[in-house]
Amino acid sequence: MSFEQLRSACASSLNLSPDVSKNLFFYWKGRVALYAYLLALNLCDGDEVIIPGLTCVVVPNAIIYTGAKPIYADIRRETLTLDLQSVEKNISSRTKLIIIQNTFGLSADVIALVELAHERGITVIEDCAHGFGGFYQGKPNGTIADAAFFSTQWNKPFSTGLGGFLLVNNSDMALRVKYVNRALMRPSWKELLSIRSSMFAHSYILTDSNYFKMVKLFRLLSKYDLVTGSSSAEEMLSVIKPNAYFKAMSNLQVRVGVSGINTLPSVLKLRKKAALAYRNVLSSSNKWHVSTEHDENNSHLKFPVLVRNRVEFIKRAENARIRLSDWFISPIHPVTTHFDRWHLSIKDIPVASEVASKLLTINTEVTEPDRVCQFLKDNMDLLL
Ligand SMILES: *Cc1c(COP(=O)(O)O)cnc(C)c1O
Repeated sequence: MSFEQLRSACASSLNLSPDVSKNLFFYWKGRVALYAYLLALNLCDGDEVIIPGLTCVVVPNAIIYTGAKPIYADIRRETLTLDLQSVEKNISSRTKLIIIQNTFGLSADVIALVELAHERGITVIEDCAHGFGGFYQGKPNGTIADAAFFSTQWNKPFSTGLGGFLLVNNSDMALRVKYVNRALMRPSWKELLSIRSSMFAHSYILTDSNYFKMVKLFRLLSKYDLVTGSSSAEEMLSVIKPNAYFKAMSNLQVRVGVSGINTLPSVLKLRKKAALAYRNVLSSSNKWHVSTEHDENNSHLKFPVLVRNRVEFIKRAENARIRLSDWFISPIHPVTTHFDRWHLSIKDIPVASEVASKLLTINTEVTEPDRVCQFLKDNMDLLL
């Protein structure tokens, strides 16, 4: 029952016809949704998948698990999303798929990228981990390409604790995904217990004043696999598929998701209002801020800033009790070493690697954006 509730809530946000809404599939995590699609595509050893040079390591991981190879295209500094020209340069006869990522709520040039790919007979999936609830030229994010995957992890547009789902916009591929899904496992009772306790921690304990301490504690515990973090230590150290990786979403997650998705419209308003206020501060001081060119599309999951000295900026934010996060401080976040294991050579992605060295993201889900604006004004010296 609750599965159908979540499906219909997602379908209605995405404006899907009843036919297409059957092609929504729910998983333990967003990366597993991507992996299911990769399996359905039947990638062979040596096939290539183009991805943005500023992403989460779990994306290249899922590709490598299938035997295919991630190829990193650069991003545009203005939007932090895929650079069309760099994608074009990286297309080869082995390219089977392009992953177009929405970054912090802002879409890439989805239509132009899809056109380019389809001209060359290449499939496109949107990484909408940040983009659920936003639009691209009037269409809900995720509905333009051949498929899209979404994350419903704690920090994503709406949460099921951990979780993710896949939308397949083509019925043949949807059949193949259904076939692949027959191998899905169920989360173990231990994983469910762990996710339940993390849900409890997330809903009751996080406050402005203990936020940074909790985040540190949580990361430390998850590093040693003591709580269900979003990634296991193994996924950040190696490209070997963890055991029991291919898991379905549990009923517990679904129930949390149904209430989460209902509050999304009000959360989106809050995010947008805060982001526009921050941006006014930055643009009136001529500081870098993300492009306004697709503004109507931007759902502002996070507000990116580029800073001169990240350590110092974080310290000042902690003192001022301003919530920020260190997402994508590496091209394959959060991995910072042994890039060769992921087939990444950072000289191929100069813009992404420069951005990753200066990036921080400010929370947009705040009730007092003025306090954050004041903080930005007081710390202009560190902003680029
Ligand atoms: C979070 C995230 C993912 C993975 O989602 P999970 O649900 O954690 O597996 C993929 N891509 C991007 C850009 C993300 O931020």
